[in-house]
Amino acid sequence: MKVLLLYPRFPQSFWSFEKTLALLNRKAMLPPLGLVTAAAILPQNWEFKLVDCNVRDVTPAEWDWAELVILSAMIVQKDNLLEQIQVAKRKGKRVAVGGPYATALPHEVTEVGADYLILDEGEITLPLFVKGITQGEPSGIFRANGDRPDVTSTPIPRFDLLEFDAYAEMSVQFSRGCPFQCEFCDIIVLYGRKPRTKTPEQLLKELDRLYELGWRRSIFMVDDNFIGNKRNVKLFLKQLKPWMEAHQYPFSFATEASVDLAQDQELMDWMVQCNFGAVFLGIETPDEASLTLTQKYQNTRDSLSDAVYAITRSGLRVMAGFIIGFDGEKAGAGQRIVQFVEQTSIPTALFSMLQALPDTALWHRLEKEGRLRSKSANINQTTLMNFVPTRPLEEIAREYVDAFWELYDPVKFLDRAYRHYRILGEATYPKKGKGAKKTINWVTIYALLTICWRQGVLRKTRWQFWRNLWNMQRHNPGGVSSYLSVCAQIEHFLEYRQIVKQEIEMQVAQFLAGEAVDTNVADKRKVMC
Ligand code: SF4
Repeated sequence: MKVLLLYPRFPQSFWSFEKTLALLNRKAMLPPLGLVTAAAILPQNWEFKLVDCNVRDVTPAEWDWAELVILSAMIVQKDNLLEQIQVAKRKGKRVAVGGPYATALPHEVTEVGADYLILDEGEITLPLFVKGITQGEPSGIFRANGDRPDVTSTPIPRFDLLEFDAYAEMSVQFSRGCPFQCEFCDIIVLYGRKPRTKTPEQLLKELDRLYELGWRRSIFMVDDNFIGNKRNVKLFLKQLKPWMEAHQYPFSFATEASVDLAQDQELMDWMVQCNFGAVFLGIETPDEASLTLTQKYQNTRDSLSDAVYAITRSGLRVMAGFIIGFDGEKAGAGQRIVQFVEQTSIPTALFSMLQALPDTALWHRLEKEGRLRSKSANINQTTLMNFVPTRPLEEIAREYVDAFWELYDPVKFLDRAYRHYRILGEATYPKKGKGAKKTINWVTIYALLTICWRQGVLRKTRWQFWRNLWNMQRHNPGGVSSYLSVCAQIEHFLEYRQIVKQEIEMQVAQFLAGEAVDTNVADKRKVMC
């Protein structure tokens, strides 16, 4: 069987970083880990080609070659996914679709002609699909029916199918699932509340494979909550540390974790000693009433600003997610989020309006209350809420746009980045990286000169840029290159805050005029793959 694995394009978003990636001559932030994992689970006597539409288009020769097209996508990729399915069907291919979007809204995928749906987790449903297709079934929907696989038997992903040079970071996964119960979260719907982890040996074999293939840069652990099972993660880190020493620290790591990480100094120290450099925290809001209402109780137990400080002080750069639009939220939530971000000096603050994702507890509650405005979902930072909030939608949207604009004011952003790196400079364990491939080449020099020219000459940040750089060199010299890479993010955010403002304001105008709100503007911004 000749299988074309196809990863749909992401719309421009908070995380797409086109301008920053262009500076570094990369095409995408992360590779499609789900598809390379699927390729490892499928029969190894099948032939595979992988095309990530975020990197390049499918060639006519690849379309001709393929007997079967398998796609996987998240909700945010849905428009390009649906387009790709239709293209493949027009070319007469059999099409199978898996991943979170198809699992959440299977009818939207079958409506455009997909032949096979491989839903839930592939370790269970891919073998059912293989059995079906080899027995000549022309179509089928394969579900796990509530079963969840033991990920200790998941094979090493087929990293060899990836075009390494295209990606800013590589990705691996240690665990699935999260023990918490945030009302808006679809992770616990998809992967459950009992975290399932790989074995340390298993993940080290994946790192061995990446090392053999020549990867020497950053790796994102795409776990829903890396510390969901603290015992197992510590067992892994205890084996990762000697592996990293033996290989001369070829990688740096970043991941996502719940805020209770701050309560476990031992765990943070292990992470830093294993060369974890950054962690994404779901803070959501400093408003305790909203956190309680959304059942994010773990964020109400201790001071959130103390937690951010403890994590940063341990040597982990903090990125964080914030949401506006919770039920019962009082006016001024946008400004309270800005104040929190400024106070905690978090440079990269993902900010969105609350969306109800299919099948979440929030979705079911709103459905029962008759408050869903749409039975679909479109998740990005440029889409109005898909339900009726408890305060005026236009008021929330105004606060959101104003706060987003302020957060990504270049002066404020550079100031936060600098203050954050000064705290990071106090960390006990210095960063490692002797074995990392030295990337001082013309691309790096060009990127550096461009940042210096734009931020240190053209913009009003010029004095601040050079003063901060000078002080970084004096107080945290080991953090300068990482600090500059965060400074480079503003090249993306300056454009993106403009897009957020324009598109949200346009949708609010449509909403107030009683017109149908066009929530697909983000997806229309890009030409299809
Ligand atoms: S902590 Fe994060 S992953 Fe876990 S339930 Fe809450 S939002 Fe979901």
